[in-house]
Amino acid sequence: MKKISFQNIFISVKFSNRKTIGIYVHPDKKVEVKAPYKTSLGRIKQLIELKSPWIEKQLKEKYARIEKKREYKNGHTLKLLGQDYLIKVIQVEDFQEEQIIKEKKIIRVYVHDSNKKKRISLFIEEWYRNEALIFLAKKLEKCYQKIKKYNIPRPSFYLRYMKRRWGSCNAKGTILLNPEMIALPSHCIEYIIMHELCHLKHLNHSKEFYHFLETVMPDWEEHNQALDSHLQV
Ligand SMILES: [Zn+2]
Repeated sequence: MKKISFQNIFISVKFSNRKTIGIYVHPDKKVEVKAPYKTSLGRIKQLIELKSPWIEKQLKEKYARIEKKREYKNGHTLKLLGQDYLIKVIQVEDFQEEQIIKEKKIIRVYVHDSNKKKRISLFIEEWYRNEALIFLAKKLEKCYQKIKKYNIPRPSFYLRYMKRRWGSCNAKGTILLNPEMIALPSHCIEYIIMHELCHLKHLNHSKEFYHFLETVMPDWEEHNQALDSHLQV
């Protein structure tokens, strides 16, 4: 594998048996080029230059939506697992329970006082974060079960709001996941988690790392591309 630098971005180049050159921007902002054997670095640099607006757009926008402020208000929509849900605040009698119920395309928020906007917003936000926690914990366990057999110790896992990353993994075996990913379709979340889990075996983006990722998730490229197509949401 080779590393080249382009406008202060380090790009790793991996040569393989493939027929075309592919450029990838990963969940952790690494840029990678995959090229057929014998492709010259000059040719790759040329392509990167040609594609540089796209790469920059990816780097900027792939994460832009993370920063987007969400509104937890009546009539607004919340995105969960790639689906839009309309928030409907409904006032109930004092003896009835305050609760949030997710239906097919609606999130029904039952409260005692529908005028207390700030309180309602916090109530919904807490519920949303909790949904993320429950879902991501379950998904992480499911993904871990898939790779456990490769002698990978169980990671510690934390949710952390990060401005520009979906996930990260360190040498101590700690995985950080951005709870904002709960808005993405389930298969994209699975890809982000599998990607980070594979780092428990190979901390870098080496050939071995990708070989391992391909073993445990043969269709990872599709999911990574889907991650791109969800930018404009
Ligand atoms: Zn990575």
